[in-house]
Amino acid sequence: GHHVSSQRMRSRRRELRTRHDITSFAPQFISIYESLTPSEGEKEKQKQLLQSLEKLIIKEWPNAQLHLYGSCANSFGASSCDIDVCLAISDGEIDKSKILLRLAEILQSDNLQDVQALTRARVPIVKLKDPATGISCDICINNILAVVNTKLLRNYSQIDHRLRQLVIIVKHWAKSRGVNDTYQGTLSSYAYVLMCIHFLQLRRPAILPCLQEMQPTYMVTVDGIECAFFDQVQKLQHFGSVNRESIAELLWAFFSYWAYHHDYANDVISVRTGGIISKQSKDWTRRIGNDRHLICIEDPFELSHDLGRVVDKFTIKILREEFERAAEIMQYDPNPSVRLFEPY
Ligand code: ATP
Ligand code: MG
Repeated sequence: GHHVSSQRMRSRRRELRTRHDITSFAPQFISIYESLTPSEGEKEKQKQLLQSLEKLIIKEWPNAQLHLYGSCANSFGASSCDIDVCLAISDGEIDKSKILLRLAEILQSDNLQDVQALTRARVPIVKLKDPATGISCDICINNILAVVNTKLLRNYSQIDHRLRQLVIIVKHWAKSRGVNDTYQGTLSSYAYVLMCIHFLQLRRPAILPCLQEMQPTYMVTVDGIECAFFDQVQKLQHFGSVNRESIAELLWAFFSYWAYHHDYANDVISVRTGGIISKQSKDWTRRIGNDRHLICIEDPFELSHDLGRVVDKFTIKILREEFERAAEIMQYDPNPSVRLFEPY
């Protein structure tokens, strides 16, 4: 009865929506993307906050530097996102907790709001809010690897504008559906960005190259890790242009990849190599400690680091169901740009 006829309906509709059909939804996704991107005014306010923090910090630590990292610097930030700042102090041995507590003191006496030192967090930080702009900010110490991976992400986004569109929409989807929270066992924004870069590296024709496999023009060693990649991305402006896929097609293919095609049992996605590598080769085939490796996303620089390690046997199910839901909507829904982002 009901079941059979809905099956029939589905297969009829499956024939109906083609690559061409899906592309007719591109303008709707583009306008969602545009409504999510921060305005010039917001960027300006962030810059001002950074400058006033710099003034305060230089007084106390004359050799220190402030770097922006995370979504406010990698081009994948939505409007009104918090800013992530790294305080770089290179004076040999330092006591991070002591510096964070002193920093909190300084910020408090400058009338910044909600100043809080979280010295026991996995990444110890000071949190604050700027009353003038309403912007919240986290400051960490000497997390230079995050500054370097932020640069890699930003450089990728400068090659083809579809990466930024894809990431901003995927992050919006993940936040709406409750699957962007490492404390709850789902994935970080950083993990989603790597998934999008990897996906565009594997399109045929490719939309993104593999910057770490090219002749390096940028090299630094951070915490004993050599970070090297090609960063003259202005020379790669036309790299992806042979591929004409629209953002709607890419979203459709992205979700269907993670819903139906990714080999969760054997594969690791690797932006570093521009392809798929095996769990076997990384020895990520079994649970070690708390790392379960149920979805494997290799960090481009910390090679032993799996961004999927926060996912457990319950949340992998939730994630995969969400990928399937999204793929189904892209395939069948008459109004995909609405239903995709419905709150869970
Ligand atoms: P959002 O808009 O959700 O705040 P975000 O880009 O700031 O997104 P986060 O996941 O909050 O993303 O991470 C901020 C930055 O911290 C990342 O851009 C990355 O540089 C670094 N980072 C985050 N998680 C990791 C990780 N597990 N390993 C290495 N670096 C990380
Ligand atoms: Mg952030």
